[in-house]
Amino acid sequence: MKEKTHLGKQLLSILVPCYNEEAVLPAFYQRTSQVIADIPRYDFQFIFVNDGSKDHTLDVMRELREKDSRVSYVNLSRNFGKEIAMIAGIDYLTGDAAIIMDADLQDPPELIPEMIYWWEKGYQDVSAKRRSRAGESFFKKWSSHAFYTLLQKVSDVPMQRDVGDFRLLDRQCLNALRLMRESQRYTKGLFSWIGFEKKEILFDRDARAAGKTKWNYWKLFNLAIEGITSFTIAPLRTSAFVGCILALISILYMLFIVIRTIIYGDDVPGYPSLISIVLFIGGIQLFFLGVIGEYLGRIFNESKSRPLYLVQDFNGERVMEQKKGIQDYDR
Ligand code: UDP
Ligand code: MG
Repeated sequence: MKEKTHLGKQLLSILVPCYNEEAVLPAFYQRTSQVIADIPRYDFQFIFVNDGSKDHTLDVMRELREKDSRVSYVNLSRNFGKEIAMIAGIDYLTGDAAIIMDADLQDPPELIPEMIYWWEKGYQDVSAKRRSRAGESFFKKWSSHAFYTLLQKVSDVPMQRDVGDFRLLDRQCLNALRLMRESQRYTKGLFSWIGFEKKEILFDRDARAAGKTKWNYWKLFNLAIEGITSFTIAPLRTSAFVGCILALISILYMLFIVIRTIIYGDDVPGYPSLISIVLFIGGIQLFFLGVIGEYLGRIFNESKSRPLYLVQDFNGERVMEQKKGIQDYDR
């Protein structure tokens, strides 16, 4: 690993995807500014991505931009979701490294100096690992634990556990992420997929400072499906496997029936067992059709190859040319 050597002042971007964050964004800016004021050896840049907020988040961003020229904002044309908002920010930021943070102060900016410390040591992806999860229900903790365990088991790349999107990424990682233009993004998995020198540091995740979370269990469930289907075809393989086992059992059962009929004759019993087997097989078939459909749906979505997002304006200026893929990768 190569330690970083200083050649002039480097630029660090702070990337913040925001959806309806007017209540907390000024506080976020305040607290983060205080932290970076103590790190004069770098230049800083804020990249706020307005992900189609319905409140006055955009106005807050404009005000901050007016006060502070280090602030830039990317205004997306509608709500695209956090995963897409992040790649939009990554496309637009110009730093030598970037720190991705939530607007709600759940990711304490006080951790930035430590991240930079490890970056200077030569690590390329310094992620913050949650030591505790304040303000989360028992069920959320349990389900998240179960999900990570499952994902780690079935995916082909080692998945990081309990790390969120709060991390510092160097330019090489950022460029790697920009190469991945899949529209159904599971960014946590992509971070693991790209590899490079990784370092995890521990922190206590606070409860949201103000405003309310945009996640609910349905969304989290969908994200979990997203995570699994975008990183492994294990469910497809499982369905083939279960199919084989069931076929084998049916053959054995068939033989049993035939032999029994030969020996004892047939008095048409077995309606209950028949109906339950039919229903069981039907259920299994529908379930695995669903699994296949999930992958088919992904192929459908990706094959449209639409741009990942549309930008209405950048720092108040209308954006006329939209990026579509890696062909117009460098602007
Ligand atoms: N976010 C976004 N687009 C969305 C939903 C959320 O950009 O559609 C942002 C949100 O503004 C926040 C971050 O993603 O900065 C994390 O969201 P939230 O705090 O609601 O999630 P949680 O911390 O509960 O996982
Ligand atoms: Mg949050």
